[in-house]
Amino acid sequence: MTGVHGIPPKEGIQLYTARIDPHLTFGCEIAIDVDEALVSKLEAVQHSFLRRLLGLNSHSMLVILFTETGLVLIRYRRLQLALSYLKYAASCSKDHLAFAAFSHCCSLHRKGASSLIGDIIFALARLPIPVNCTLADCSVPERIDDMSAKVLQSWESSAMMFIQGSVRCHLLRNRIRVDPKGLVSPKALITFRNYLTLIPTPKHRRAFVRFITSGHRLGVELLRHTDRRYRPPVPREWRKCRFGCEEIKDEFHATLRCQAHPPLRIQRSLFLRHILSLVPDHKVWETRTDHDDFLRLVLFDERIITLVAKFIYEVESIFDSHRVWVPPPRLYIQIHSSSNTGM
Ligand SMILES: [Zn+2]
Repeated sequence: MTGVHGIPPKEGIQLYTARIDPHLTFGCEIAIDVDEALVSKLEAVQHSFLRRLLGLNSHSMLVILFTETGLVLIRYRRLQLALSYLKYAASCSKDHLAFAAFSHCCSLHRKGASSLIGDIIFALARLPIPVNCTLADCSVPERIDDMSAKVLQSWESSAMMFIQGSVRCHLLRNRIRVDPKGLVSPKALITFRNYLTLIPTPKHRRAFVRFITSGHRLGVELLRHTDRRYRPPVPREWRKCRFGCEEIKDEFHATLRCQAHPPLRIQRSLFLRHILSLVPDHKVWETRTDHDDFLRLVLFDERIITLVAKFIYEVESIFDSHRVWVPPPRLYIQIHSSSNTGM
């Protein structure tokens, strides 16, 4: 997978579907994933491919690999394919070998012995949002269709809960897509995103994806990880700007508000000069471009998305050229222990 990094996302997804998905789903109709360790290995392949395709690092969230590409997590896809095969077997004529095998599985399950149907019921119940299923549900083709729809719902609900609950998804939550005609489109939770094809320059596209999915290298994210074995985790309020500002170095501060670095101010004013006239109600926004809502307004507007992605890349490059400011642990440990003891 070393060459995945340079492939455009749309072609990368086609490549994945044609060349990788068949390996990951091979035999899933009769070999149900009852062993968590084994299905995790398949998921690791899927995660690795998608992370490289989108230009994300190993700390990136997993759910966004799917909300941005429209793919289904492999454990759900394998279960859906297994249910499709079960429906086929249940629908066959009584003299068909597949139906004979299906009847035998039903008989085994009734006797409490292990069987394909028992494994499917077990795997459905083990999903993060369980799908309850009985032998009767697995015996009627129409009910099997319902089970398959419930598996998809389980996956979407699981992804929705993560997006709504994670502080790192704050830019994706309630995002509004504006298409090239200026029309606001209904948001879909899991779909292939237009920005992956609209932003033609790979380095700009990758910077944009990192930015909206909290996969960037700004202080608020960089200091979240506890890879530094000999340094305690840095509280959010101490992940401050590397240019000496008192504000937390998050996406809004870096792009809209940081005034401490002249090259950054120049890039920002050039960017605003380009896009302000293209923004709806731009007269209103002229004096409010340092507001969080301004970034939310321009971030998913497909008419200006190439300019936004280029600006984000430039901001990222400026910050990357300077070391992140790591506060000495004595600063925040003292304060935290004092507040804990009521001093
Ligand atoms: Zn700053």
